[in-house]
This record gives sequence, C-alpha cells and structure tokens, in this order.
Amino acid sequence: MDKTILVTGANRGLGLEFTKRLLQRGEKVIATARAPQKAQSLKELQKVHGALLEIFPLDVSDAGSVRNLADELHFTSLDVIINNAGVLLEDLGRDVNADPEVLLKTLNTNTVGPVRVIEALLPMLCAGDEPVIVNISSGLGSFSRENGAAGPAYRASKAALNMITKTLSESLRHRNITLVSLDPGWISTDMGGAEAPLTPPESVDGMLRVIDGLTRRDTGRFINRNGEDVPW
Ligand code: NDP
Repeated sequence: MDKTILVTGANRGLGLEFTKRLLQRGEKVIATARAPQKAQSLKELQKVHGALLEIFPLDVSDAGSVRNLADELHFTSLDVIINNAGVLLEDLGRDVNADPEVLLKTLNTNTVGPVRVIEALLPMLCAGDEPVIVNISSGLGSFSRENGAAGPAYRASKAALNMITKTLSESLRHRNITLVSLDPGWISTDMGGAEAPLTPPESVDGMLRVIDGLTRRDTGRFINRNGEDVPW
C-alpha cells in the first residue's frame, strides 16, 4: 500500500532529496518548509506529481508553527515522519568553545524540534498501520568518535536527539511505533559542503532502504545508511 510520509526541512538538501525519491516511488509526501512560498524546487515537483505532494509551512523551532501544522493535518493518517530539519551554526573546520546562544538555538531546532513534531503529530501517526519515526541524527553526535573540539553545540544537539530516540522509543513501543536515529553520512548539501564524499541521492537511497526494512525490533536503534549500528 502507498504510504503517506511527512518530511521536515524539505525545500533543500536531504529533505528535498527524500521528497523527490518518495514521489518517484508513488508515495504521498507531506513536505514541510519554513517558507513554502520560496520553495521553488518543491513547487516544480508539485507541477509534476500533483496531489501526491502537499506542501505546508513548518518552523520546528516555533511551537505555534508546529501546532498550526497539527491543526492542518487533523484528518490525515501518517505512516512515516522523517525529522530531517536541522541547523549547523558552527564552523566544523575549527575548534571552539560552546557559545550559549548558539547552543540554545541549535538545541531548539535539532533536538526540541523533533520532539515538538512527534508530540503534535502522534495522533495522526497512530492512525497509520506500522508507524515509523526517523530522527535524522549524525555520526558527530556519537560519544565514541574522535571528533576533536569543533561543533560542540551541533554535536550536543545530535547526542541529545539520540537520547530522545532511545527513551521515547520505549514509551512508544506499546503503540507499535518504531522510532530510530539515522546517520546519513557526510553529504554534499549546503550543510555538508562541496568536499563531502556522498551526494544526496547516494545517502537518501541508502536511508530509504533502511527505512523500508525497519521492523518493531529496530526501535530505539542508532543506525547508518547501510543499516549498521552506530556506536552511541
Ligand atoms: P541543509 O542545511 O542543506 O538543509 C537543512 C534544512 O533544514 C533546510 O530545508 C532548512 O530550511 C531546514 N531547517 C533549518 N532550520 C529549520 C527550522 N527551524 N524549521 C524547519 N526547517 C528548518 O542540511 P542537510 O540537508 O545537509 O541536513 C539535513 C539533516 O541531516 C539535518 O538534520 C542535518 O543535521 C543532518 N545531517 C547532515 C549531514 C551532511 O553531511 N549534510 C551529516 C549528518 C547529518 P531553510 O531552507 O528554510 O533554511
């Protein structure tokens, strides 16, 4: 059966690539963007795919914006939520101390954002058959990796997101909802930069294979685009 999949931060980067790939497969996509009126690539996709693609405004750092989306989607049944929207507000090329303001802003989008989305959209997700939530994380959120002293806020936000995945997956288990953290690799998006070894299609193809194969037994895992466990 064709699924309905909600993607946050869908106007560029990995979110846009998820949207393209899913539409090509004939899935119904609810693509969200901070400023849909400027989301030219999504508008082009809508010309091709018509009603399969719905576009809604969503700023995950703003509780009111998340509530508005939940109101709009009141009668919608969701199968998958991909919490993809994220920010990197630091230069990963140099070691810095954590700046409190940068830390707060980063946590608000990368960690609290997915929590807001899950909490608000849970009723629509529960209407789905085998609901899945994917939190797009990062290897930089792993405590086990030697990553130097660059990007403390970003790394903390993804480590915290992983803990949210771990803990929330336990409470969602009884609702049969599968929740995982997914590390996409290093990809040549605006965030990843031109020197990244992977393209968005390469990363998203792998991630979609992993998402397609998820079962309830996977809930709470931190995995990469090859389906392998990433050390916490
Ligand atoms: P991009 O910077 O290319 O795109 C980020 C997307 O997130 C944009 O659509 C942006 O919208 C959106 N966004 C940012 N803040 C908000 C917000 N408050 N509310 C809603 N949307 C928001 O990043 P990528 O595509 O590379 O990254 C996607 C995800 O993958 C992120 O979570 C990132 O941390 C993760 N990731 C990326 C890696 C990489 O190498 N690229 C590596 C590991 C993880 P707008 O256009 O309005 O700014």
